[in-house]
Amino acid sequence: MRLLLVEDDPLIGDGVRTGLTQEGYAVDWLKDGRSAEQALQTEDYDLMILDLGLPKMSGLEILERLRAKQNDLPVLVLTAKDTVADRITGLDCGADDYLVKPFSLDELNARLRALHRRHRARSSPTIQHGAISLDPASHEVTCDGAPVNISAREFAVLQMLLENAGKVLSRSRIEEGLYAWNEEVESNAVEVHIHHLRKKLGTSLIRTIRGVGYVVQKDQ
Ligand code: CA
Repeated sequence: MRLLLVEDDPLIGDGVRTGLTQEGYAVDWLKDGRSAEQALQTEDYDLMILDLGLPKMSGLEILERLRAKQNDLPVLVLTAKDTVADRITGLDCGADDYLVKPFSLDELNARLRALHRRHRARSSPTIQHGAISLDPASHEVTCDGAPVNISAREFAVLQMLLENAGKVLSRSRIEEGLYAWNEEVESNAVEVHIHHLRKKLGTSLIRTIRGVGYVVQKDQ
């Protein structure tokens, strides 16, 4: 899952990026409003964490511009002070949720999962597909009730494919969900993850569409 973090405080930004990268997110971290606005025009993100007080362009302005373009990217706003007026302004400008600093990484994680789930119109916290069950909170995968040993990146690939069941995802689309700008992508990384997933979950789940990408059939 690709996430844009916009935060000018180096300590908070570094902590959030490190924590969310360990959770398997591909995190692009930007420290001013203008570069965030540019990134939003060129990259496809699944989630955004947005500080309100930013150099060059405020978080509220970024949010207003985003929503003016009918972009429904889920946005969690970070506010420095917990005043009712601040929260109302943020939510009215199109934020989906907010957290007041200082916050715990666990709560941030839980809120991001809930935001993503709501955005996907999924009411259950787990993703079910046939015999496979995937839990984004615990990072556990089971097949016919039996736990499957799976790496963070394999989990991320599987989640992307299951959430987009019926749609073919290209290799570059999957790479975008796995790697941030600062991370080096190994040329055959996606193929390797798919190979491992097939070994663990059976060869019929993920189909290769030659020259296009990978697809999981819609669950009947
Ligand atoms: Ca700030």
